[in-house]
Amino acid sequence: MRFYNTETKQKEEFKTIEPGKVRMYVCGPTVYNLIHIGNARPMIVFDTARRYMEHKGYEVNYVSNFTDVDDKIIAKANEEGVSSQEISERYIAECKKDMEGMNVRPATTHPLATQEIPGMIEMIEELIDKGYAYNVNGTVYFRTRRFKDYGKLSHKNLDDLRSGGRALLVTGEDEKEDPLDFVLWKPKKEGEPFWESPWSEGRPGWHIECSVMSKKYLGDEIDIHAGGEDLVFPHHENEIAQSEAANGKIFTHYWLHNAFLNIDNRKMSKSLGNFFTVRDISEKYDLQVLRFFMLSAHYRSPLNFSADQMESAAVSLERIRNAVENLKYLETASEKNMPADTAMTQEEQALLSEAMAFETKFDDAMDDDLNTADAIAAIFELVKFANSHSAAENTPAYLKGVKDEIVKLCDILGLIVEKKEELLDDEIEKLIEERQAARKAKNFARADEIRNLLAEKGIQLLDTREGVKWKRA
Ligand code: AMP
Ligand code: ZN
Repeated sequence: MRFYNTETKQKEEFKTIEPGKVRMYVCGPTVYNLIHIGNARPMIVFDTARRYMEHKGYEVNYVSNFTDVDDKIIAKANEEGVSSQEISERYIAECKKDMEGMNVRPATTHPLATQEIPGMIEMIEELIDKGYAYNVNGTVYFRTRRFKDYGKLSHKNLDDLRSGGRALLVTGEDEKEDPLDFVLWKPKKEGEPFWESPWSEGRPGWHIECSVMSKKYLGDEIDIHAGGEDLVFPHHENEIAQSEAANGKIFTHYWLHNAFLNIDNRKMSKSLGNFFTVRDISEKYDLQVLRFFMLSAHYRSPLNFSADQMESAAVSLERIRNAVENLKYLETASEKNMPADTAMTQEEQALLSEAMAFETKFDDAMDDDLNTADAIAAIFELVKFANSHSAAENTPAYLKGVKDEIVKLCDILGLIVEKKEELLDDEIEKLIEERQAARKAKNFARADEIRNLLAEKGIQLLDTREGVKWKRA
C-alpha cells in the first residue's frame, strides 16, 4: 500500500511503526455551525482510508478532535447570548448526526480541546524549559527560528515568509521576537472562556491542541496525520515544530492532505452565496449519494460540486443498488426451484472466481494512494459482470456469492447499497391513524414513538388543514 506524503512529495510504501497497527490523527472541525460539504470531504476520505486499512488487516486507532474553543465559537455564543459550551455541544451533536448519515464511523476517540487543557499547559512549560518558547505579558509564543526543521512540510522558504511576515503582524503581537513566532497561550479578553495557567488566565492556541491530543491518545510518534490541504501551513507545520521540539521524536511518518471542494468551479463561501451544509444536501438526497460523489474523484484532486454531478452520482449509485436488488430477487426465485443449499455447478464456481477477481483490481486501485475513482470503476465492472451472468436458473449459493462480493467492496468504501426494508403505503396509513388516536387519548409518548418510527423509515408527516399527509423523504 502506498500513500502520497506531503512532506516528501512522493508516493511511499506504507510501513507502520508497530506491525499491524495504525496510529492515525485527523484534524476535526471547529464546531460553531453545521458542518459544510467541504468539511465532509476529509471526513469521508479518511474514514474510507481507515476502512480500507482495516480490510487489509490493520487495527486502526483513529483519533479525530473537535475544536471546541475558538474565536468563531465565542462570537456565535455572544450573538445568541449563550455559553460557548452550549454552542460547541450543540454543533458536536449535529455533526455526529451528519457523520452517521454519511456512514462516517465514530473515531476510536473524539477528544475535545477544552478537556485537555492540563496537557497543553504541560507541553508549553516543557517548550519554555527547553528554550523553544517564551512568555511576554501572559502570551506565550513559540520561538520558530530555534526549530531547525521549520518549513519541512510546507516546503516554504523561511526568509520569504519572514520578510512578508511583518505586514501580517496583528496589533498587540509586535512584542514577538520574530514575525514567524506563533501563539501557544493567550490571555483572555473580557467575556471569553479562560483557564488558569502559570502565564495568565487565558486559553491555548489552536496548533498546540492537536499536538497534545495526538500525543495523549496515540503517543509521541504516529503513522498518519491528515486533514484538508489548507492545514499544511501553518497548522501542521506548527504542530511538527511543537511536537518534535517537545518530544524529541519524529512526530508523523505520513502526512495526507485532501484537495478542496469547490462549487460550480468557485471557492465555496457564504458571501458568494454558494455555500451548502451537509444538512442542506440531506434534504434533497440520501447522504450516501454525497459519499459516492466525494469518492468518485481522487482525494488529492480538486473536486467540483454541482447539481449535475450530484444527479449523476445518484444515478450511478442506483445502478449498483439495482444490481444488488436484482441478485436478491433472483436468489429468492431460485430458492423456489431448488433447495437453498444446492451445490454450485463447476461453471458457476469458475464464474464466481471471475467475479471475486474484481477485488484484486479494487485493491490495486486503493493500494495506489487510495484511488477511489478506479476502485469504483472496478465495482462497476463487477456490476456489469453480475448483470450479464445471473439468472433464476443459477443456484442460490452462486447468486448470493456474487451479491456478497458487490456489497463487500461497497462496504469497504462505506457505501450502503442494500436497500432498507420499506414500509408499504397501507402500513404507513395504519400507523398514522394509530398516532392520531394516541394524540386524542393524550398518549403523547406513543404518538411521538410512531412519528420517530416513521421518520426512521424516511416518512415525513405534514400536518395540514385537510389532516395529516405524508411523503417519502
Ligand atoms: P475547519 O473547521 O475549518 O478547521 O475545517 C475542518 C476540516 O475541513 C479541515 O480538515 C479542513 O481542511 C477541511 N475543509 C474545510 N473546507 C474545505 C473544502 N472546501 N474542501 C475540502 N476540505 C475542506
Ligand atoms: Zn489539527
